[in-house]
Amino acid sequence: MKVLVINAGSTSVKYNLYEMDTEAVLARGIVERVGTPAAVHTSRTGSQPKLVEPVDAPNHRAAIDAILALHSKHGGVLENRADVRAVGHRVVHGGEKLVRPVRITPEVKKTIEECALFAPIHNPANLAGIEAAQEALPDVPHVAVFDTAFHAELPTSAFVYGVPYELYLSQSIRRYGFHGPSHQFMAASAAEHLKTDLSRLKLVTCHLGGGASVTAVDGGRSIDTSMGMTPLEGLLMATRSGDVDPALGLLLSRQGMSPEAVDELLNKKSGLLGLSGISQDFRDVEKAASEGNDRARLAIEVFVHRVKKYVGAYAALLGGADAIVFTGGIGENSARVRRMVCDGLIYMGVALDDAKNEAARPRDAGVGVVDVSQHRAPTKVLVVATDEERMIAREVVRTIAGPTAARKRVTGGTIPVGVSVRHVHLSRADCDALFGAGYELAMKRPVSQPGQYVCRETVDLVGPKGEISRVAIINPLRKETQVEVAKTDAYVLGIDAPLRESGKLDNTPGITLRGPNGSTQIPKGVIMAHRHVHMHTDEAAQFGVKDGDTIRVRVEGDRETVFGDVIVRVRGDFALDMHVDTDEANAAALNNDSVASFDGVQ
Ligand code: ADP
Repeated sequence: MKVLVINAGSTSVKYNLYEMDTEAVLARGIVERVGTPAAVHTSRTGSQPKLVEPVDAPNHRAAIDAILALHSKHGGVLENRADVRAVGHRVVHGGEKLVRPVRITPEVKKTIEECALFAPIHNPANLAGIEAAQEALPDVPHVAVFDTAFHAELPTSAFVYGVPYELYLSQSIRRYGFHGPSHQFMAASAAEHLKTDLSRLKLVTCHLGGGASVTAVDGGRSIDTSMGMTPLEGLLMATRSGDVDPALGLLLSRQGMSPEAVDELLNKKSGLLGLSGISQDFRDVEKAASEGNDRARLAIEVFVHRVKKYVGAYAALLGGADAIVFTGGIGENSARVRRMVCDGLIYMGVALDDAKNEAARPRDAGVGVVDVSQHRAPTKVLVVATDEERMIAREVVRTIAGPTAARKRVTGGTIPVGVSVRHVHLSRADCDALFGAGYELAMKRPVSQPGQYVCRETVDLVGPKGEISRVAIINPLRKETQVEVAKTDAYVLGIDAPLRESGKLDNTPGITLRGPNGSTQIPKGVIMAHRHVHMHTDEAAQFGVKDGDTIRVRVEGDRETVFGDVIVRVRGDFALDMHVDTDEANAAALNNDSVASFDGVQ
């Protein structure tokens, strides 16, 4: 199966074409200066020499047509353009809604557009690439893979900024993190190289390129990362300042600088370029430093200082690291930077082997990973030839295999049934009250909807009439606490829980929750969940329904039942599943292996 991966910039379209059966790169290249008469296509097919040719690319669509035309020419790697079976798009910002790779629907595109608030340059360019590729290849699935997605499960303490919490609630102001595919690729490569399951590894991954970020990866999960709400925070970069006192922007604006000028200063005129006054390219700065230029030397020192500071901070958060992993143009190629970062880290088990460090060329050597640490060093230092595009191609294959593929086979109009046992969704404040300030709930097992999981911890429900102990908590945390019970549970508790859709909590009764750290009384939030079906956008199209419709669903068997008034919820990242509570399931003799069938729109 051939998968095309596209990374569209405002004036460029970078691409890789994979044969995913073997993960071989069939072709790769870039069309630059899109929108100008000087557009040029640089490409490489297999191991053939690089080809550079001018192209007519007044827009992204023309650039993609040129790419497809070149590779479908006689003797090319494609028979014709229909040979491309799926397209993966790198998208920088997915915000809080798009937290895993998704098939691109009009709704997904709208969300990407909304997220341009946080990535004003990247997201519109990514979207232009998507529109163009969808026009050029209208009959294949297009999947968006987000830079932010790998960091979607950051603990709250890592993603919340120390500003009024309402800013998070109302505007989703928080840390998102970027370079996700690269950090994910580094973590997977390190696990493979160390022959250890990723779930057992603590890693500090350093992506040091034109943009740069460090991530703490605990058991495969990103638990902190240096970039923030936008890719400006953290390390010193080619032209970005990274961390500065937020008061700097205020000071400059009070002095009369416009927001656009402040933006330009911090994003385009700072970093290696701003400090050295020479270049944004690390090689030029290194050369100038070696020729005695003090500001170039300073730029390198500040760059390394930051990386080292984050490595130490993340080792502290992780409670030690099994490996520090380097990648990106600088991380992969500059032995000097790795040497400077790792100097003096012997206290945390880091000892470089200088000869191996100098010789490390994972990309040229055609190997994914080179270990540059001394044989017995407890903390390994690894250099990885990152391949974000390959990671994206893998995610595309996984995504089109379908979220339900791993669960139950769904055929011809059947709908899997999920029985929702009473459970609680907690807010940060209530989680703090029940388990202690900043407590992070641990995952026990995922539930059918992607990204949601049952936690190891439980809470007790204390009603006016009775109590129910050890009630499941489902994460991630929500903005408001919600308690979902069946009618039988409501009788036990002595609470008159109304039938509601999730999240619609006005005029609902409260309850007392009891945890190991204390009790908390919620003023509202106890409901019986209205039965509903989650559907992926494609499945909704197959059934001919849309978000908000109510449908009938039939179950066969000993207690054949038709459920009416089942609400349809459609989203690009939903997995097909009908949710009923335990009373409903028992009445119709259903369990988690049952399937139902669509019985028409009401
Ligand atoms: P981007 O983040 O723009 O994709 P890259 O990951 O390609 O960038 O990294 C670009 C940076 O890597 C540039 O600053 C470049 O100077 C630096 N770089 C590339 N090769 C070397 C090298 N041999 N030694 C030091 N730095 C290098």
